[in-house]
Amino acid sequence: MSTCLFTCLLFRTAVMSELNGLTFTQGQPKEYIKIAESGNHRAQGFCQNCGTGIYATSVSDEPKVYAIRVGAVDQSAALVPVFQIFCRSAQSWVNDIGAIKSFADGPQ
Ligand SMILES: [Zn+2]
Repeated sequence: MSTCLFTCLLFRTAVMSELNGLTFTQGQPKEYIKIAESGNHRAQGFCQNCGTGIYATSVSDEPKVYAIRVGAVDQSAALVPVFQIFCRSAQSWVNDIGAIKSFADGPQ
């Protein structure tokens, strides 16, 4: 995996793989095709058992780069975001979120 990361929408954090840089050692994901605002078709891979999103990638037969969702990898704490995309649709309060009251677990 490369160290390029991004956050988008509210919030999705992903790490970009190298070409064909994703191997499944247990089971196979299920995919659905999402049509982006740009019109691009993207395959969205998710766990067939629990529905957890795993990656997004192109739908062609060419070598693929996978946008792997950081929550689906064991090294998530080490993968610090380095840029953000799709900021045009960000909510106006998103840059202030670190200053609001927070809880280590659910609110008491
Ligand atoms: Zn699962």
